Amino acid sequence: MVQEYGLFIDGKWRKSEGKRFETRNPATGEVLATFPLATKDELGGAAHAAKGAFEKWRKTTAPRRGEILLEAARIFRRKKEELGRVVTTEMGKVIAEGRGDVQEVIDFYEYAAGEGRRMFGETVPSELPNKMCLTVRMPVGPVGLITPWNFPMAIPAWKSGAALIAGCPFVLKPSSLTPLCAAKLVEVLDEAGFPPGVVNLLTGSGSVVGDGLVAHPDLRVISFTGGVDTGRHVYETAAKKMIKVGLELGGKNPIIAMDDANLELLMDGVMFGAFGTAGQRCTASSRLIVHQKIYDQVVDDLAKRAEKLRVGNPIDEKTDMGPVASADQEKKVLEYIEIGRKEGDTLITGGKKLAGGVYDKGFFIAPTVFAVDRRKRLALEEIFGPVLSVLKAKDFDDAVAIANSVKYGLSSSIYTNDLRWAFRAMQELEAGITYVNAPTIGAEVQLPFGGVKETGPTDTREAGTTALDEFTYWKTIYVDYSGRLQRAQIDTAKLTGG
Ligand code: NDP
Repeated sequence: MVQEYGLFIDGKWRKSEGKRFETRNPATGEVLATFPLATKDELGGAAHAAKGAFEKWRKTTAPRRGEILLEAARIFRRKKEELGRVVTTEMGKVIAEGRGDVQEVIDFYEYAAGEGRRMFGETVPSELPNKMCLTVRMPVGPVGLITPWNFPMAIPAWKSGAALIAGCPFVLKPSSLTPLCAAKLVEVLDEAGFPPGVVNLLTGSGSVVGDGLVAHPDLRVISFTGGVDTGRHVYETAAKKMIKVGLELGGKNPIIAMDDANLELLMDGVMFGAFGTAGQRCTASSRLIVHQKIYDQVVDDLAKRAEKLRVGNPIDEKTDMGPVASADQEKKVLEYIEIGRKEGDTLITGGKKLAGGVYDKGFFIAPTVFAVDRRKRLALEEIFGPVLSVLKAKDFDDAVAIANSVKYGLSSSIYTNDLRWAFRAMQELEAGITYVNAPTIGAEVQLPFGGVKETGPTDTREAGTTALDEFTYWKTIYVDYSGRLQRAQIDTAKLTGG
């Protein structure tokens, strides 16, 4: 029986006037549930509900907000297996990663709940006597959250956890490929006890619901994760409204392999970084930049290792790599493979859609490795699939130049046992994240996450305490308890004897 979902507005699941769409398992084609394409009126209703809930929610103390968030984390912990399976069946990542998606929700909700008892500001000395100066975080108001499909519970949780603890009611618009994961997340938040209007969910197309949220006059922040082109459009629309936006966009993340690297460790990292989540992570290791001295051996090892990966139904514990998430994703990745061929890149392994048996029902692509020239499109553009581009570098400086030659700057990595290269990479790689002797994936929730250049034009960071920056503004407070008028910059001269 396929479940029919409504929209979650003002504390209730509601029927929609809009048409419906299906969400499917990308490994089997099975329909999992149907969802409404929210109408403009319904969008207005959700934004209105969030606005209406703001006054009460911001006055609920942050530790109390944290308690409810902690309850949500507890429910997620209890339902981890069930929800991990939902992630895998709707999005297609292997079951260990499906559970990982849910674990990330638990981790961040617990972390954010703790922030309810911290949310530190500063106390700063005054230049005048009997005067106190401090800063406090204030919630910005009702907000809109727009999320992609590749971390279908974790990314909505990063955004919603930060908004909720900051005191901001939200309207979430998830990717149309993974509405079921978002609905399950909202069910948990409802069960945890958030007041009506604080949590709202709209499903529907990006161009109607997403765009409508960004333009809506009641929403004071838009937190967006997705592709660069959509992000640019969101940025422009939000600028017209003069509101704050958080943008987490694409990546073309490099691993640099120096000639002294531990090759076994490198190969384990590259397989996980390039083919984990079928390469559909914004932090995926999509470029491997190899020192010329070890290049031939690395290419040889790569082919052997990639060919050993077991591609199949992601719900099977033995599967290493599942399908890509949709027919469109499959088309895009196969187009890039074709571009590689046409531009003269050397195909080392893979390079095709898998067919026969279980493969005929889903979107399966062989783990693919190309040897690529640094000026070619496969070296520069985000593919977002199981395609690794290998590039040859003359030395460290050349490797860093190649790494920094793309428009993105999310994650980066170097494999070396030489401290000089490790520390220079930390300084010289243009990226929001640098790993040493680990691949470009593996973010932990207690640290800032985000990028530079076209990955992160707004310089916002999710996770860590920095997650609060998106949803709060700083208020500076001066308390003068001297009982007389004290004039900053003017009366100070007397006090210093000047
Ligand atoms: P998209 O940019 O296509 O979509 C992201 C979200 O935006 C979806 O909810 C989509 O809705 C919505 N959307 C689409 N058009 C508009 C619009 N005009 N106005 C407002 N919202 C809109 O990205 P994908 O979902 O395909 O995700 C893949 C991309 O996300 C990759 O480029 C990847 O690098 C990036 N990403 C970045 C991360 C980071 O932290 N830097 C993390 C994860 C992914 P709908 O689904 O209905 O079209």
